[in-house]
Amino acid sequence: MSSSLPGWKELPMGGVAFRPSTDIKTGEWRLGFRPVVKEEKCVGCAMCVVLCPDMAMGLGEEGKAQVNYDYCKGCGICARECPYGAIEMVPE
Ligand code: SF4
Ligand code: SF4
Repeated sequence: MSSSLPGWKELPMGGVAFRPSTDIKTGEWRLGFRPVVKEEKCVGCAMCVVLCPDMAMGLGEEGKAQVNYDYCKGCGICARECPYGAIEMVPE
């Protein structure tokens, strides 16, 4: 059966921009709050590092939690799950 529709080889490529995900600063979409680490309370257990869905949390040289605001979306999971209450969500 023939068709007047183009075959898949004739279709133009979709408008996908191939960029490394590190170029996409998801922190620009932050939800109005940002996490602030209270260093005096942080014991460096890394629970927040493991649970951050955007890999925006790491441990700094001092072994304390450190937020990379370029990628933090402000979801608040780190503050909710920190067993030591060392992260506070503050309005931007
Ligand atoms: S979960 Fe809390 S105590 Fe553990 S590293 Fe993160 S901020 Fe520090
Ligand atoms: S607020 Fe969400 S995205 Fe930002 S560091 Fe905490 S867990 Fe990660």
